[in-house]
Amino acid sequence: MRSMIVSADAKKGMVVKQRVRVSDLKLDLIDVTILRFLDLKQILQVSPGKRLLKIESVKDGGHVVREARVSRLLDSMRASSPARAKPASATTRAASVDDEKKSWILRHPSALSMFEEITRASMGKKIVMFLDYDGTLSPIVEDPDRAFMSQEMREAVKDTATFFPTAIVSGRCRDKVYSFVQLTELYYAGSHGMDIKGPPRSCSNGNKVKFNLFSLHRITDGDLVLCQPASEFLPMIDEVYKTLVESTKSIPGARVETNKFCLSVHFRCVDEKSWDALAEQVKLVLSGYPKLKLTSGRKVLEIRPTIEWDKGKALEFLLEALGFAASDDDVLPIYIGDDRTDEDAFKVLRQRGRGVGILVSKVPKETSASYSLEEPSEVRRFLCRLAEWKRQSL
Ligand SMILES: [Mg+2]
Repeated sequence: MRSMIVSADAKKGMVVKQRVRVSDLKLDLIDVTILRFLDLKQILQVSPGKRLLKIESVKDGGHVVREARVSRLLDSMRASSPARAKPASATTRAASVDDEKKSWILRHPSALSMFEEITRASMGKKIVMFLDYDGTLSPIVEDPDRAFMSQEMREAVKDTATFFPTAIVSGRCRDKVYSFVQLTELYYAGSHGMDIKGPPRSCSNGNKVKFNLFSLHRITDGDLVLCQPASEFLPMIDEVYKTLVESTKSIPGARVETNKFCLSVHFRCVDEKSWDALAEQVKLVLSGYPKLKLTSGRKVLEIRPTIEWDKGKALEFLLEALGFAASDDDVLPIYIGDDRTDEDAFKVLRQRGRGVGILVSKVPKETSASYSLEEPSEVRRFLCRLAEWKRQSL
């Protein structure tokens, strides 16, 4: 079979026959569209565009074109990097960035400047606090094992938990997050919410937990494990972890982290020239595991089971475990996070039409959150202010 690669606009003059999924070609193929032509010239006359097409001649004299959405994963990896300076004058660039930021802030105002509005919305309701960890409570650092939170932040979270049920929702392994936070009175939702555990009964600060979802909770070692919806995936995740460690060890800076129910491949310390090679390796390994899916976050590729479970589902689960129904008017969930995976929780709050989503970001980003904070130090100020407001109102 003859094959060739051309650039072309996939939309013009082509008939879509079917969509298939392949992983055996060298290109970064994720979704592939099979198109059929009788005349190869017809294809080559299509005006050049961004997409790459792999064209193969077939038995009946026509040609099959496989549309390769090349580098979707690589694009996604780049999108998680800081925006690069575009070739423009410094003044023009600064003005344009400034305008964009102003417009974004109007749509997602600072939670500190809108503090009164947020507390007004909580009148007569129970605030439940949800906090992401990396980039929200701790700074983003090169070595994920050293993403420590400050003692001041720990005290702010502890103070918050005195007044409001508080959960840490992270992509990390639950035990790892606990080792950073070290507060027993919190709920911990690790592995993107796939491993949820409440505080021991003696530390629950009087927050009564109702167990409506009997099928999902169990008790171990005197601690309450509330939810582990992906436990059947543990052997598979462990196997993929070992394979990925082996297959990525030749790429300098690549780091595979196991988060128990999911995996992270960190590329913060990988030279950008090697990102493509890393993405290829990861996708090659995953091609043998259709029950696992791949997403990207801030300088990290995330591998998770394909179950319908994410940080948004974890938020809903915890609200229900705390005794609040999905449509409950008596609760005001506040979720603070900085990552793409936090968007699932922001979306749940949007869909509920109640609740406060706060994105931590210094730069404008597409988000379903309503408010913003620039960095962890602002998150700490917000938490301190909220606890102080509650203290004063008692
Ligand atoms: Mg984060």
